[in-house]
Amino acid sequence: MKVRDIGEFGLIERWEREVPGGPGLVRGIGDDAAILEATPGAQWLATTDTLVESVHFDLSFTTPEQLGRRALAANLSDIAAMGGRARFALVSLGLETDTDLAVVDSFYRGLTAEASRWGVILVGGDTVRSPRSMIIGITVLGDVEPGRAVRRDGARPGDLLLVTGDLGGSAAGLATLISEPSALSALDTRYVREVRARHLEPEPRLREARIIAASGATSMIDVSDGLANEANHLARQSGVSIVIDAEKIPVSEATQAVAKAFNHDPVDWALNGGEDYELLFTAPPECVGVLADTVQTQTGTPIRIIGRVKEGAGCWLEEGGVRAVLPSSSYDHFTRK
Ligand code: ADP
Ligand code: MG
Repeated sequence: MKVRDIGEFGLIERWEREVPGGPGLVRGIGDDAAILEATPGAQWLATTDTLVESVHFDLSFTTPEQLGRRALAANLSDIAAMGGRARFALVSLGLETDTDLAVVDSFYRGLTAEASRWGVILVGGDTVRSPRSMIIGITVLGDVEPGRAVRRDGARPGDLLLVTGDLGGSAAGLATLISEPSALSALDTRYVREVRARHLEPEPRLREARIIAASGATSMIDVSDGLANEANHLARQSGVSIVIDAEKIPVSEATQAVAKAFNHDPVDWALNGGEDYELLFTAPPECVGVLADTVQTQTGTPIRIIGRVKEGAGCWLEEGGVRAVLPSSSYDHFTRK
């Protein structure tokens, strides 16, 4: 069955029946607008992201279910980066009329599974016809204790620069997905599976973020476009300089193995790859011990110090005692830099 056989209203009726509600939801899918209960005294966080087929995803190696999960996870990561709690999501879909209904159903299965993992409720959206390629717009609402959101502009000279987990895994995963199968023959399949999961099923660091925010972090950003880019954002928006120690950048054993097989520098993947969805943040040195211990014991996620904040401007990479400017490398949608 195709989308055209059931139509916009047929789709909406199904979601109205099947999508679960939860705390804070007064009226969800089915009315002109959703009615939501605000947490008393809290501030709202709002974020949105748009994904376009063949620009941001490719259904030839992502299942629709993984796509649903990942599309929501990317937005949840933005709520995490503010130190907030994710509450509600809205989903806009542009679909070709001959899209298989099974693709849409599977997309929603992934989306609602990821939502329920984090107590997020899907409260509405919009559905339109797209002449070519699928378009996905997701908006997430979160909340945070007043004044407690961790912004990008709070880093201070003397702070340390820290990161959750490890970096470059998603770029390594993408490399294995787009390569010829023969390029993988020398690689341990466990490594391939691990880095692919990093790319296809990223974990938003929501739990870690709440602890980081409550433990004295001064600025935070999620690593969606590579460490170089995000560190430059923190430096510029905070009006400080950031020095990163290249040897301290955490790269997993799997990412290193894949990098070796592809003859690629794993640190380049960490700096300039994308979609790792780890958290990059700054904190005064006296907060770091307790912060890292609490995150590790309560979530199992390691925290590493990878650099420091200084007076001045710009981002620097230090390697073997040599310091070089670290330019941001981000993909610009319009200039295709
Ligand atoms: P309107 O014409 O007022 O925009 P719609 O017919 O677009 O209303 O939507 C009807 C209901 O279905 C609304 O509650 C809307 O939030 C919900 N909805 C529409 N598309 C989606 C979608 N892709 N996912 C979830 N809910 C949706
Ligand atoms: Mg509408």
